[in-house]
Amino acid sequence: MELQKEMIAEHYEALARAPREGRKTAYTFVPGNLTELIRMFDILPVLPEINALQSGMRRLSGDYIAEAEKHGHSEDVCTYVKCDIGMLKKGNIGPTGTRLPEPDLLLLSYTGCFTFMKWFELLRQEYDCPVAMLHVPYQADGIIHDHHRDYVVEQLRSEIIPKLEQVSGRKYDEDLLKARLEESARSEDDLVHVLESAKNVPSPIDSYFGGVYYIGPIFSAFRGTPEGSEYYRALRAEVDARVKAGLGPVTPDGTMKEERYRLVVEGPPNWTSFREFWKMFYDEGAVVVASSYTKVGGLYDRGFRHDPSRPLETLADYCMGCYTNLGLPSRVDLLESYMREYKADGFVINSVKSCNSFSAGQLLMLRQLEERTGLPGGFIESDLVDPRYFSAANIKNRLESYFQMLDQKRSA
Ligand code: SF4
Repeated sequence: MELQKEMIAEHYEALARAPREGRKTAYTFVPGNLTELIRMFDILPVLPEINALQSGMRRLSGDYIAEAEKHGHSEDVCTYVKCDIGMLKKGNIGPTGTRLPEPDLLLLSYTGCFTFMKWFELLRQEYDCPVAMLHVPYQADGIIHDHHRDYVVEQLRSEIIPKLEQVSGRKYDEDLLKARLEESARSEDDLVHVLESAKNVPSPIDSYFGGVYYIGPIFSAFRGTPEGSEYYRALRAEVDARVKAGLGPVTPDGTMKEERYRLVVEGPPNWTSFREFWKMFYDEGAVVVASSYTKVGGLYDRGFRHDPSRPLETLADYCMGCYTNLGLPSRVDLLESYMREYKADGFVINSVKSCNSFSAGQLLMLRQLEERTGLPGGFIESDLVDPRYFSAANIKNRLESYFQMLDQKRSA
């Protein structure tokens, strides 16, 4: 946690220095991000969702959302978008207090969520810079076909790389890209090792609340960088030591004493009351052993690794494989397999109304998962970064009833 906080803070510092140092920046999204390619051109990525969630954790998002609503954005719009637009309207000061640079490129890698496209349409009205769009085909039948891959690679060649060359003034260098992809694969191995450590009983990690710290560097600006690899080496060593010592996960109140419930969680977390939300789980001895949220930036635990021997093809496969790009049947299959592999006692859905990409179909998922596994599901509702939609008493009540149900099921 400490190390990743330092890395993220340093990245914001680098962004603040970028205009002075003549470094270029690209605004781009987490799922399907092309970090290795962007950084090969020495362009710094700015990730609007990360800005929004960091603003949420620092309790800045409420004012930003109010600002966006003043400008006419409806209550139903994804609150990441409103947080971002509000922050921009209030001077574009990032969550750590430093100013964010204006983009030299808006790089939209379109993976599964339609909101991404509308979001960048709004940003395009604000900034005078080129826009590059990578259209990533949705995995409707859960299979990446060759013609899908060819379609994405062709766009990388004809649209994305030329724009990156134009903005950076550098030529595409495949050897440099390969070196970065090699670095990525190392971090991905370590991350999977960490996530799979939750198969131990007790689990040494919490794969949702703790998980957000584990995915932070690889899902943001650090995939394919030496700092990223170093982070994952250190994390893996720390988690291995916890397994050896038979320790449970670290929480904000220290090591979790007793593991009473093992859960799989679907849906993104709430950020404005992140610690309070987490506490509702660890106070009851509930540990999340697997989650879908930790897969939005890549499904590495299902075997995908960036492969330097086929650099553009591997970037295409990566974009198409992100969780947000999967259809409902694939999502249900994935969650079911997690429940079996991680010996879960049940699953909880945190439904976020304003995130269409996650919330669509969640009630159907709940029913199907209960039928297939025979395990009880819980359903709670909150929001990403809008503090108006986090009702602590309501969520706590629902969770307590859910844990009682798990107890009853166990004793029966
Ligand atoms: S709707 Fe959900 S997936 Fe789409 S941009 Fe908003 S938070 Fe991200």
